[in-house]
Amino acid sequence: MRKVRRLCRRHLTFTTAVAIACIQQQRLAHIDVRKQLALPHLQAYKVGMDTQTTPPPDDDGDLLAATPTLDAASCYRAVTARDTRFDGVFFTAVKTTGIYCRPVCSAKTPAASSCTFFTSAAQAENAGFRPCLRCRPELAPYALQQNLAYAVWQKICAGALNHASLDELAVEVGLSSRQLRRVLLQHFGVAPVELAQTQRLLLAKQLLTETTLPVTEIAFAAGFGSLRRFNDLFQTRYKLAPSQLRVRQRAPKADAQGITLKLAFRPPFNWPGMLDYFFSRRLHSVAVVDQSSYRRSVLLNGHSGWLAVQHDGKGNFLTLQFSTSLLPVLPLLLTRVREQFDLDANPELIRHDLHLPGRRAETVIAFARFAQAGGLQPPAGQDLASTLAQLQSLPGIGAWSANYIALRALRYPDAFPSGDLVLQKALGRILQMDDEEKRPSAKQLEKHAQRWQPWRGYAALALWHSMPLIQQAPGTEET
Ligand SMILES: [Zn+2]
Repeated sequence: MRKVRRLCRRHLTFTTAVAIACIQQQRLAHIDVRKQLALPHLQAYKVGMDTQTTPPPDDDGDLLAATPTLDAASCYRAVTARDTRFDGVFFTAVKTTGIYCRPVCSAKTPAASSCTFFTSAAQAENAGFRPCLRCRPELAPYALQQNLAYAVWQKICAGALNHASLDELAVEVGLSSRQLRRVLLQHFGVAPVELAQTQRLLLAKQLLTETTLPVTEIAFAAGFGSLRRFNDLFQTRYKLAPSQLRVRQRAPKADAQGITLKLAFRPPFNWPGMLDYFFSRRLHSVAVVDQSSYRRSVLLNGHSGWLAVQHDGKGNFLTLQFSTSLLPVLPLLLTRVREQFDLDANPELIRHDLHLPGRRAETVIAFARFAQAGGLQPPAGQDLASTLAQLQSLPGIGAWSANYIALRALRYPDAFPSGDLVLQKALGRILQMDDEEKRPSAKQLEKHAQRWQPWRGYAALALWHSMPLIQQAPGTEET
């Protein structure tokens, strides 16, 4: 309830606040959500691109794919507050020191005038900045997004460009390599090869810092083709020899029980809830789940081994322990674990299902009443229209809230809150109605959105995402 009040203070209506608060409470059951979404979201993206009516000014004009604009004032506010919600969403580069940081860095907040903000670590490095040794940008959770660029980026993080060419990756995601370059440039500000290089360097940096593995093994595990190539790039980018970083960070003693790495997340993170979830779904032959850990055997691309995941209760990270036999597939392993434990989810942007016990009711009273009314558990397979009708029969739930909940909480891919002011403004931009007063009405937006069926939900996410960060908070004229 406190959360609802806090959200209300942020100029949101009470209903909106309840919707968001309940969404933020519902992190734990979303573990398998992304896998289900993987294909449709590529599909939806393409639908979004293909069906735009406004002809783009040239080939580079797909506005649905536009990168979110970083608004310096909002970013700086997040840095000042060390706001964990923005961890991994952007990076702060400090001109006076040449270093870039996560928004959660515990170092003294730099002056606003010396800060530049980047959406990716690769972009900061491309501009000549080095990663901070204190907040360690390599730990930042990824900024989970519903778009093709993110899906491609995730493949690159998993090592797609370590063993295959850009052309092969392009074929895999159904684009030409030129389109692939363009999409990544739009979203991350750098070329695919830059993304891959930064990813390898940051993984190597983490391994140097947290393990006592020999440097040669680290270079190959991080995805470099040769030790010399690794040493050169590391020295050029970070102005350090790999061994220097190691000494500075006093790496812990090698563990005979395998390799241990930190995997950061954005709080809140319901670890007991997640273990419950895996406990109820474990395959006895491969996984053991107890009160504090998740362990399983692994077979990845022909490499077999084991892993264990724990949370020691302190700090916003899980501890991953794995057998050295899995080092050759490390980038893929890390991606899979991040995905399984939903580490890149952002409470502000979460999609989730509500097939959960009533535990959620403990924290948000308003939401509990709502849930008890039976409004949030539509029978499996119930169609969107019936669910919307059911939601709207509840007091205080209008069309916007119903669609918003159907989209963000119940994962109906075709839910579309056309009453949303930000969506209206975003479409206004696409239609080049530069006067805000002339933004399309809910009806016009609804009509325009018909072409995005049955994936209007993804179009909504893409539209929200096309707007500057400061305007991304949902807003509504509830009817
Ligand atoms: Zn820092």
